[in-house]
Amino acid sequence: GIPAMPPPVLAERRKTRQLMVGPVGVGSEHSISVQSMTTTVTADVNATLQQIAELTAAGCDIVRVACPSADDAEALPAIATKSQIPVIADIHFQPKYVFAAIEAGCAAVRVNPGNIKKFDDKVAEIARAAKDHGTPIRIGVNAGSLDPRILSKHGKATPEALAESALWEAGLFAEHDFHDIKISVKHHDPVTMIRAYEILAEQCDYPLHLGVTEAGPAFQGTIKSAVAFGALLRQGIGDTIRVSLSAPPVEEVKVGSQILQSLNLRPRKLEIVSCPSCGRAQVDVYKLADEVTAGLEGMEVPLRVAVMGCVVNGPGEAREADLGVASGNGKGQIFVKGEVIKTVPEHKIVETLIEEAMRIAEEAGEA
Ligand code: SF4
Repeated sequence: GIPAMPPPVLAERRKTRQLMVGPVGVGSEHSISVQSMTTTVTADVNATLQQIAELTAAGCDIVRVACPSADDAEALPAIATKSQIPVIADIHFQPKYVFAAIEAGCAAVRVNPGNIKKFDDKVAEIARAAKDHGTPIRIGVNAGSLDPRILSKHGKATPEALAESALWEAGLFAEHDFHDIKISVKHHDPVTMIRAYEILAEQCDYPLHLGVTEAGPAFQGTIKSAVAFGALLRQGIGDTIRVSLSAPPVEEVKVGSQILQSLNLRPRKLEIVSCPSCGRAQVDVYKLADEVTAGLEGMEVPLRVAVMGCVVNGPGEAREADLGVASGNGKGQIFVKGEVIKTVPEHKIVETLIEEAMRIAEEAGEA
């Protein structure tokens, strides 16, 4: 008989409430968005807008700005108005800045539950202001700033403690009939973080913002985030993501976009299929792959480019790609859509690939 279809690799998205962060829809009906956070002093409007422009160009969908002082709060209207992407104000401790951010037209506000007790008498007011302006709230629980009551109950920042803290605070808003909420429960340990999100996913239908907090420098942080997000996205959990790196925020956006592209959750752009090289390689594959990647950075047309070191898998992979090179003997056979179009000497491989890529991009643009 006909073999049964294998189950799809990724589970269907977990059904959530939908909300709008400015023009960007968040929730199971919308694609997963990539976020980052500026590192400029928010009060420096020009520097902040410049960085937001760079993040936007890198593919960032939503940006968060810290708001620790009155000067920062005063800068919010200009930033929220001029930013190309929705701006979320990140506020700790100070309810008055929450109101300022809502008034400023920020697309959302992030508040911290470890501090919300200080807001206690303000929750109703915040809920009312946010509802009046259609401003969603992200409840951002971090292991480092758990509510002391929950921390002492659980002994430490366990997955259960993180989830309980977030749901307790969501409940404070829900009491005032405010549900435009997105939740994050960040921890530096991917295993704890994954479990915390799984618990939340079972217990509520709010959209979830994924993050491994304090994930570390670029190499470690990239791996921790990719592993944790992969485990959750596999289950259909996660509506927005932020990769936290001790590195410039543009790097966070690139990594976040790559994670989504790797799971086919975002259309693939440039993809380099390059071999690891081995004793058979007849060209410098690392250098070739780096140079081709650098030369094609920022290409908007989806393109798979194969860079292969020898003739063993080279022609096969190069033929499967839109464009490729199979190297051998100081030369490169250049393939376009499966056909060898020419053979060039090694020093001409990179420029030929880039030329051909531009031609393909132009043709795709005209089509
Ligand atoms: Fe080695 Fe050739 Fe495979 Fe590259 S393509 S890893 S050089 S066998």
